[in-house]
Amino acid sequence: MNRDGTLESPLRRDRLYEQVADRLQALILDESLLAGEQLPSERELADRMGVSRTVIREATRVLSVRGLVEVKAGSGTYVKELTSSVASSHIGMLLQARQAPERDFDDLARVRSALEVEIAALAAENAEAQDIAEMEAVIELMAGEIASTEEFVEYDVGFHTALVVATKNEVFALMLAPITDLLVELRRELYRYDSAASVHGALTHHRRILAAVKAGDADGARNAMRNHLDQAGNLEHARQIHAISETGE
Ligand SMILES: [Zn+2]
Repeated sequence: MNRDGTLESPLRRDRLYEQVADRLQALILDESLLAGEQLPSERELADRMGVSRTVIREATRVLSVRGLVEVKAGSGTYVKELTSSVASSHIGMLLQARQAPERDFDDLARVRSALEVEIAALAAENAEAQDIAEMEAVIELMAGEIASTEEFVEYDVGFHTALVVATKNEVFALMLAPITDLLVELRRELYRYDSAASVHGALTHHRRILAAVKAGDADGARNAMRNHLDQAGNLEHARQIHAISETGE
């Protein structure tokens, strides 16, 4: 690859900093620049690309917002390691920007369901001893005393995270993370509405899912997950009715 050619081809003058950002991003993504590596200095980039240092600074800011680089004061700009949290926060922003809360909830729950049901099946096929141990540990935590809504959310998310790790398919983890983030508020509300039923329901279903995973039973794991998500959906329905009857009085 000829790095210089890529950087130094003529640029259009509109939105210059965005083009510069895109070009630098391409270098990072095709791994010409690796995580931890320092970008060439502002001056060098400005010279090589034939733009002002201000444009380079703007472009660097864009890349920083995109989560691709980190600007260290007095030291320079470094390529960041790409993690799922970068994708997660971007998808999260896009979904939030749609501003359709009720529809969003249904849409998200449906996508979550599609992913989780298949995740459960794949976990049954691929889980290793340490994955099973992790799921058992999180179930134990939920079976113990739960002091707060946040603890319930943590243990519920913890179980589903252990499950997706057990699929050995990182793309599933990448796709599920932003949906999990966005559905955290739902988990909180379920717990607030009826903490005992939420804990009991989650524990019962998590144990059934785990039993199927341990048995290597992909269809059983699919069904157990479907039942779990249906039950969580019913609780949400109950909460809505509760809210309506309260305001109706
Ligand atoms: Zn759960």
